[in-house]
Amino acid sequence: MIKRIGVLTSGGDAPGMNAAIRAVTRAAIAKGLEVFGIHDGYLGMYENRIERLYRKSVSEKMRIGGTFLGTARLKEFDRKEVRQMALDNLHKYQIDGLVVIGGDGSYRGGLDLSNMGMAVVGVPGTIDNDIGGTDYTIGFDTAINTAVDAVDKLRDTSNSHRRCSIIEVMGRNCGDIAIWTAMAVGAEVCICKEFGIDLQEVIDNVRKAAQSKRHAIIVVAENMVSVEELARQVTENTPFEARATVLGHIQRGGSPTVRDRVYASMMGVKAVAALIEGKSHHCVCYRKGKIAVIPIEEALIDNNTDLLEKYEIFKLLW
Ligand code: ADP
Repeated sequence: MIKRIGVLTSGGDAPGMNAAIRAVTRAAIAKGLEVFGIHDGYLGMYENRIERLYRKSVSEKMRIGGTFLGTARLKEFDRKEVRQMALDNLHKYQIDGLVVIGGDGSYRGGLDLSNMGMAVVGVPGTIDNDIGGTDYTIGFDTAINTAVDAVDKLRDTSNSHRRCSIIEVMGRNCGDIAIWTAMAVGAEVCICKEFGIDLQEVIDNVRKAAQSKRHAIIVVAENMVSVEELARQVTENTPFEARATVLGHIQRGGSPTVRDRVYASMMGVKAVAALIEGKSHHCVCYRKGKIAVIPIEEALIDNNTDLLEKYEIFKLLW
């Protein structure tokens, strides 16, 4: 039976991570465990920057974006001797279970640690919604709301000037932020890995928009195309002058939405329950309306299965 658990946030930060840390801390204390916060993810674990957390340590944190424990990237964590030194630090505090809040990279690190004997349970914290086996990752809802708010503002000005706004959103390996944002703002086109890019379709859709309104919106997932170059093509080939905006890290910040706070809270509690049950190399997920626990390996498989359906819906709306 575990007695002391560690909690860390790792990789890209996401709004709602604080709510997850709070839930882990409070649920663990309620179950009679001691909790230790590890600063800056695996880096702080390696550098022995670990502190005891109490109920009060997590007061007033829920509504704040980012992660109060900090996060970092430690490339060397794929080396066994680096992980062993980090594990030795956990042993100094007699920590026998670890909650890793992060994305797929953090999960890989967690899996490696569990293979070295530490009980690890992951909680999906990433704005990209790119973890397998779960319909939801903490931070996604806040990120898409931030993106939609920004596009709504851009629409006001592009409507005044008869322009096409091209907005690059985050989501390097997963088009969910682009797809949800595009659908929510009624974009003319959504360009992402899953939908691909067809320049003629872009031009046709923007020209069609120009026949009936004063603006057009194109949402592009990062790393797909140069938005500046796309703006040049749209300006040359349609009646609209196009302007590109890269939203960037603004999508990672801000006070988490209700959905992110509530899911983070439920997932944090579930992670503690899983550790108490003796689970390791598992992670929490949200599937078919329920919070569940699955092996980390399942979460590392790409299974964005409903994309075709979304694409068909889009084609009817464009
Ligand atoms: P995210 O968790 O948001 O996907 P990263 O991919 O940057 O973010 O991963 C966060 C950290 O997890 C990395 O800096 C590294 O310390 C650790 N990590 C990532 N991949 C591995 C791996 N294959 N083996 C061990 N540790 C890893």
